[in-house]
Amino acid sequence: MRSKKIILTGSFGVGKTSLFNQFIYQEFSDKYLTTIGAKVNSKTVVTEKGDVALLVWDIAGEITQHKVPEAYFLGTSGIVYVVDLTRPHTFTAVNSDMAFLKKILPDTAIVIVGNKKDLVSDEQLVELAQKMPIVWDYITSAKTGENVEKMFTHLALRIF
Ligand code: GDP
Ligand code: MG
Repeated sequence: MRSKKIILTGSFGVGKTSLFNQFIYQEFSDKYLTTIGAKVNSKTVVTEKGDVALLVWDIAGEITQHKVPEAYFLGTSGIVYVVDLTRPHTFTAVNSDMAFLKKILPDTAIVIVGNKKDLVSDEQLVELAQKMPIVWDYITSAKTGENVEKMFTHLALRIF
C-alpha cells in the first residue's frame, strides 16, 4: 500500500493536535496541552483510487518562524494548514505561510482548514469568509468530528 506523509501546521491553539487525535483515535479533549516536538501516527483512508496510509505529523512551532526543523519537511506529500474560525488573527499569516511552504515544498498539496466549526454560526462563517485574505478549503470540528475524515480523505485523493 502507498504511504504518504502529511504535516499539520498553523498557529498555536487552532486545533492541530485535536484534529490529529480525532482523525487517528476518534477522541477529543477540552484540555490544552502544548505539543512538544512532534507526534506521528498513521491511518489508512479508503479513496476511489485506492487505499492510502497517511502518516500524519503533528508538529510543534509555527512554520515561518523557522522553529520547525527543516528535516521535518523531508518527503512531505500534503500539508494541512489549520486556522481557528473563532480567532481571525490566526488567518493573518496565511499568505506569507503559503508562499513559504510553496517555496520549500513545491510539489506538495496544501489544504487550508477552518477549524472549530461547532463554535460558530452559519452567519458568522459568511461574515468571516468576506473579511479573510484567503478562504478555507474545508471547515472542520475536531470536537464533533465533522468533516475531519472527509478532509484527510480528499487530501489523500489530491496526492494520488
Ligand atoms: P494546537 O495548538 O493547534 O495543537 O491546538 P489544540 O488541538 O491543542 O487545541 C487548542 C484548544 O482548542 C484545546 O482546548 C482544544 O480542546 C480546543 N479545540 C480544538 N479544536 C476544537 C474544535 O473543533 N472545537 C472546539 N470547541 N474546541 C476545539
Ligand atoms: Mg498541538
